[in-house]
Parts: sequence; structure tokens; C-alpha cells
Amino acid sequence: MIGTPLAGNNNWRKVLQNFSLPVSVKHDSLLAECYNILVNGGYIDVELGTKLFESPNLSGISALADLIKKSRFGNYVYFNDNLHVNTTNICVLACRFCAFRKGPRHNDAYALSVDEYLHRIKPYSEIIDEVHSVGGLHPDWTVEFYEELYRAAKKTFPHIHIKSLTAVEVKHISSRSGLTVEETLSRLKLAGLDSLPGGGAEILVDSVRNRICRGKESSEEYLAIHEIAHGLGIKTNCTMLFGTVETVRERAIHLHKLRIQQDVSNGFQCFVPYPFLPDKSRLPEAQLASLNEIIRVIAISRIMLDNIPHIKAYRMNIGSNVASIALNSGADDIDGTVNHEEIMHEAGSSARLDSDSEELAKIIENVNSTPIKRNTTYSNFTRYKRKPNDDRRRLPVAQSTS
Ligand code: SF4
Repeated sequence: MIGTPLAGNNNWRKVLQNFSLPVSVKHDSLLAECYNILVNGGYIDVELGTKLFESPNLSGISALADLIKKSRFGNYVYFNDNLHVNTTNICVLACRFCAFRKGPRHNDAYALSVDEYLHRIKPYSEIIDEVHSVGGLHPDWTVEFYEELYRAAKKTFPHIHIKSLTAVEVKHISSRSGLTVEETLSRLKLAGLDSLPGGGAEILVDSVRNRICRGKESSEEYLAIHEIAHGLGIKTNCTMLFGTVETVRERAIHLHKLRIQQDVSNGFQCFVPYPFLPDKSRLPEAQLASLNEIIRVIAISRIMLDNIPHIKAYRMNIGSNVASIALNSGADDIDGTVNHEEIMHEAGSSARLDSDSEELAKIIENVNSTPIKRNTTYSNFTRYKRKPNDDRRRLPVAQSTS
């Protein structure tokens, strides 16, 4: 859409109303009902969400999600320049889907020192503006270690945003340090923590959590920790791990809980859904997500999460090809350059780690969208211009429908 602000349209429901609906939406009573609810200021509840997960009309669901995405962000697709640094793979828990964690005596167990952490960032420090750091629940690390880590990172690389810690890490650090979650997050914020990445939500239904990640924080605790972060002015993302043992209704419940939480604390910036990546040893009973389901989850997220602005096609997990389909099914963000990543790659991801801004922009342009480089908090945007190349394949430009 011409004239869409780089930060997106606040009045997207009105813009959505002006689009002419494709047949796959108009002639589907469920999708027409969802469309009418959204343009009239409402939201999609668990019952309707479950019906969307059960609907055979994937092309209609994707089309509606794409219209909502375009109403909010036109043809823009966002990405950033970032680096993943995992602090430790030693973890006191053993979630059944996790390929990353190691026991403290395992040959491949590691725990970065502060100097090693800085050393990992250094080679990329001129080309990134975000470091994404999560890790296992180290049995010895307390709030003091993380304070030292963030202080040192901020002192050495003041321009780099620190997006770090999942909710369960925050809970673990709090209890190891004898502090409340609020006290822990306040101290870490003071030391340099800027935002939380949102990992570890899995499925926010405790019977599912008891089967796949017993001992982790409860659904209520995940949401409460994010609410406390939001109250302290710390923005967060939220996630969903699907394709383990959950039902489609439990996926709808998960999305509903996130949108209700957002109404309360309004600090989620982006929703990041990703499927379980299997191997022979972990969760053999998992019902793995098909390509149809991956696209469906992303599209339904866009339809149900009317109050969470950004939906990410998490390339590190689903790969660039699936991510490019997701960009036409409701996703507006393709994550970052990443440069180094362990958690998804230990689990079997083969997503490339050497993608620079040019490569990400190419994925975005190949779906007729405009690449926009953003900062972590979606408050600074630059239209990304690829280097000139006369041999480039030309694609037809999508026409605006309003
Ligand atoms: S998912 Fe996180 S908390 Fe669970 S075992 Fe892996 S590293 Fe530990």
C-alpha cells in the first residue's frame, strides 16, 4: 500500500475494511465472520480459532492473514542485524524436546566467561545492533554473574541492544539469588538488559507442559514474568513451540492467552511461532507439524493476535523457503542476520548462518515486498536498498487493492 508509515498503520482495521476480499475469504462463512469481527474492532476467540485450525481452506486463511498484514504494514517486511550468543548449554532441567542442554559433566558442556562472551561479539560488533542471548539454567549462576555480563557488554559495545533471558531463566536466576522476579529484572535492567526474547512459552497449557517440559515455569508464571517485565518498561517477544503433543484447540488457547495478556500489559512486540524439530531420541510421540500446519499457525496467529503488532517467520527454524511462503501468509518479519546459532541447529535446523543483509533483502524482494531494516524495539527504520545488479531476475510488482 502506498503511504504506509514505516512503523505500520495504527488504523489498520479501517484499511482492512477498504480491501476487496478474495473469493476464498468472501465465500467462506467462517472467514467472513472473522473478517467482520476484526473490522468491527473485535477479536477471534478460542472457539473460532479452533475452527480456523480445523478448516480445510488454508488458502483462504492465508489470504485473510495476508490482507491483515498488508493493512498493518503494506508491503514492508522487517529484519535486523543481530548475533545469537548462547551463554551456556548446561541446564538443571531436561525438557523432552530440547537438543541443546547438557549435564555439567558432559564432554560438550560449556559456560562462557564474561571475556569469552565479549570475544564472541567482537568480530560482529561493527555490523550488528542486537545480541540475542539465551542459555540453559546454570546451577551456579546468580544475578551477579548476569549483571557483570551485561555491564561489560554495554561498556564495550554501547550501541548494541541486549535481548536476553527466557522467562524460565529469569525465574531460575531469581530463585538462585533469593530475589523476587521484579527485583531480579530491575537489577538486570540497570546493568544493561534491554529486552527479553520470549522463548520458552512452548504451549501455555499446563497439561502439555507437564508432558514436554516438566519442571519449567507454569503457563501462569510465563505470563506473569512477562507482565512484570512490561511493568518495568522492558519490552518482550512471545513464542510458541508447536508440533509436539498439543491439540489444535490447545494452540488456539495459547494464542488467546497471549492476546489477553497483551490487553493487560501491552509489552509484547512480536510473536514468534516455530515447529518442533525432531530426531529419533526426543519426544517420539510428537505429532510433527507439516508445511500446511506451519503456514496455518503463522496465518492464524496473524488473525487471532490483533493486538500484537509483529509476527515473525523464524528463518532459523523453518528455513528461508518456508519463511518466504510465510511472508505471504501473515508474517511481516524475517528475524535477523543471526550469524551464529546453536539451539535450533543442535535440533537439526539447516538454516544458513551466513546470511547478510543483502541475502535477507533478496528473500523479501522475491515475495514482492520491500525490505525494511529495523532496530530491536521497532522504533527505528531504514528502507534497505540492495546493491545494483543488472542481471537480477525481475518479478512483477504486486498491485495495491485499495
Ligand atoms: S529448553 Fe531450556 S530449560 Fe529446557 S532443558 Fe533446554 S535449555 Fe534447559
